Amino acid sequence: MFDSRSFDAHESVTYFSDAASGLRGIVAIHSTRLGPAIGGCRAWFYDNDEAALQDALRLSRGMSYKNAVAGLPMGGGKAVIIREPGKAVTEAQFEAFGRIVQQLNGRYITAEDVGVSVTDMGYVARNTSFVSGLHHEGAAVGGDPSPKTAYGVYCGILAAVQARLSTRNLKGLSVAVQGLGSVGRHLCGYLHEAGVKLVVADINAAACEAAKQKFGATVVSVDEILFQDVDVVAPCALGAILNEQSIPKILAPIIAGGANNQLATLEDGQRLHDRHVLYAPDYVINAGGIICATAEYLHTGNEKEVWDRVAGIGKTLAEIFSESTAKDTPTNVVADALALRLIEKSNIQ
Ligand code: NAD
Repeated sequence: MFDSRSFDAHESVTYFSDAASGLRGIVAIHSTRLGPAIGGCRAWFYDNDEAALQDALRLSRGMSYKNAVAGLPMGGGKAVIIREPGKAVTEAQFEAFGRIVQQLNGRYITAEDVGVSVTDMGYVARNTSFVSGLHHEGAAVGGDPSPKTAYGVYCGILAAVQARLSTRNLKGLSVAVQGLGSVGRHLCGYLHEAGVKLVVADINAAACEAAKQKFGATVVSVDEILFQDVDVVAPCALGAILNEQSIPKILAPIIAGGANNQLATLEDGQRLHDRHVLYAPDYVINAGGIICATAEYLHTGNEKEVWDRVAGIGKTLAEIFSESTAKDTPTNVVADALALRLIEKSNIQ
C-alpha cells in the first residue's frame, strides 16, 4: 500500500470486515491536521480490492483538500463499502459499518456519498455518534447534503460562465449533465429554473426519463454526454472521466460539475488548460455538502448561514480562475497549492 500510486502520506488505512453481515470495506484517513477527518461513505462495485483501495486513498486526500479550501476545521477521510454484484447494502451491513466508525473513536466522521442515502446513515447512527447527514426535523441544519452540493455547483457554474463567457446570465445557455443521481438531479433543477437548456445522460433510464419530463432535458447516450457542443459540461457521476482519451474530444469551453476525482491524473488538468477548457476543480466546486455536514456535526450555524457559505464557493472559484489566468497555470494546480498552503499553515497537530 505504501508504494501505491495514490498513497500520499495517509495517516491510516483501516480494512474492515464483518462476518455476520458480510460487510467489507476500507476507511482511509488522509489527514487530521486541521481537525477530525470528515468525508462520505461510498458504497460501490469494484473490480478488485486494489481498485477499492485506490478509490479510498484518492477520495480521502481530496477530502483534506476540499475541507481546507472550504475553510472547515476538519481533516480529510473517506470510507468505501465494497458492494457485491447485484446486491444492495443491507441494514445490518450499515449497522456494522457504524460499529467500525465508532471504533475509530472520532478520528473519522462519516456521511453520505454515492450509493448511500439519508436512511442508510440512520442505520449507521445506531452504533456511532461520529456521523452526519442524518434526517432532521424542523429548522435544524443537516440532512441530505446533496441539495447543497448541487447549489454549490450551480454557484460555481455561474463563476465559470462569468470568467469564460463574461456573463452571469445563464438563460439560453446549454449544460450537459452526466449523472442524474442526488447531485445531478438537484443541479438540473437549479439550472432549469435559470433558463438553461439541459442535455443529460445516466445509466439509469428512469432517471433520464424523469429529467426529460420535469426539465424538458434532451437525453443522449452515456458515451456521448461529455462531448456535447454545449457551454458547460457538468460531470455528476463517477471519477476519472477527464483523461487522455476524453479530453481531446471535449467541445465545451467549461467543465464544472459535482463528481469527485474528475481528473484521471494531474496532467489532465494541464491538458484541459492547454485546450483552453476552464475546469472548476472538483473538490472546490462540490464542497457544499461537506459544509452542510460539518455544520450539522459541530452544531455551528443556521440554515441561512450554511446556504450563504455554500454560495461563497463561487467567489473562491473566481479567485482560482483569476490566478490560473494570471499565472498561466492549470486551475487544479492553483487549487492544490492553495489547499496545501492552508493545511501546512495550520499549527493544530
Ligand atoms: P448518486 O449515487 O446519487 O448518483 C450517481 C448517478 O450517476 C446515478 O444516477 C448513476 O446511475 C449515475 N451514473 C453512474 N455511472 C454513470 C455513467 N457512466 N454515466 C452516466 N451516469 C452514471 O451519487 P451522488 O451523491 O449524486 O454523487 C455524484 C457524484 O458527486 C459522485 O462523484 C460523488 O462523490 C460526488 N459528490 C457528491 C456529494 C453529495 O452531496 N452527494 C458531495 C460531493 C461530491
